[in-house]
This record gives sequence, structure tokens and C-alpha cells, in this order.
Amino acid sequence: MTKLEILTYPNTFLFRPTNPVENIDGKIQDLIEDMAVTMYDAPGIGLAAIQVGHDKSLLVFDVSPKDEKRSLQVLINPKIISKEGTIISEEEGCLSVPDYRADVKRAEKILVQGYDREGKPLQIEAEGLLSLVLQHEIDHLNGVLFIDHLSSLKRQMYKRRVKKNLRKK
Ligand code: ZN
Repeated sequence: MTKLEILTYPNTFLFRPTNPVENIDGKIQDLIEDMAVTMYDAPGIGLAAIQVGHDKSLLVFDVSPKDEKRSLQVLINPKIISKEGTIISEEEGCLSVPDYRADVKRAEKILVQGYDREGKPLQIEAEGLLSLVLQHEIDHLNGVLFIDHLSSLKRQMYKRRVKKNLRKK
């Protein structure tokens, strides 16, 4: 198991749409293990393959409370089948958008279909934190970052800050 480098904005790889996983082979299993190590180490509650440089439709997440045992979840080729209601995610953040948090308008409940790491079809009815995490991670698989949901003014402010910091380096 290897900890992978997490790509951060403005790395253009993050804007790429991903390709479906066609074979859940040993390479994919290794990638899942590496992504899990990387996510727990960060620490984060969700990570998409594109964030570690693989343009595959694959994500890992774990929304179990801190005082409970870890429970790694894997979702391959996920699709949001339906959405219901609206909710504001408070202070949403992203490992690929460091040092920035913002409220994002999201669906309250979603129905997701995909596959688990054994290739078995999976259906998840999600609400609360799980719903927000899955919407955030599935966005990644479509080349979308949470800052893309913000007003253009807020997004511009963030982009300017990143440019300034890059110049300082
Ligand atoms: Zn993210």
C-alpha cells in the first residue's frame, strides 16, 4: 500500500471527465488500497481516483463517525439516478482545494447506482452527510470541483488567492 500524491487546483487533470472501469482487476484493487491509505492519512472522508492521477470512474469514502471503527466503502462507475430536495452543505471542503471551505447547494437525498469492488451491482439511497459526500465525489468523476458550484464572484476570489500564492512560491 502506497500513499499517493493528491492533485490540487489548478491542476487541469482535475477537470477531466473519467472513463468507466471495465475490469475490476488486481491493478484496480491495488489502486483502491492506495486510495484508502491516502484518504485516511489526509484525513478525508471521500476520495476520487482522478484526485490521485487516475482518470477512472472510481471513488472511496468512509463517513463513519470518528469514534467508530473504520468502514471503507468503494463505488465503481457510479451514477446518480434521482435527486430529491435541496440542502446547503455547510463549509464543504476538498482535499484538492486546500485551505478553502464554502457552502454549496446540493440535493438532499439521492439514489446512486454503481458497483462494489467485487463487481456486484450496488444501489445506495443516501441522505445527510453520505448524500453530500457522494455528490461531491461523483462531481469529481465528471471533472467538477465544489468551487464550480459557487457564484462566479466567490470563485474568482478563490482563483485570485491561488494565483497570488503560486506567485509567492
Ligand atoms: Zn473533493
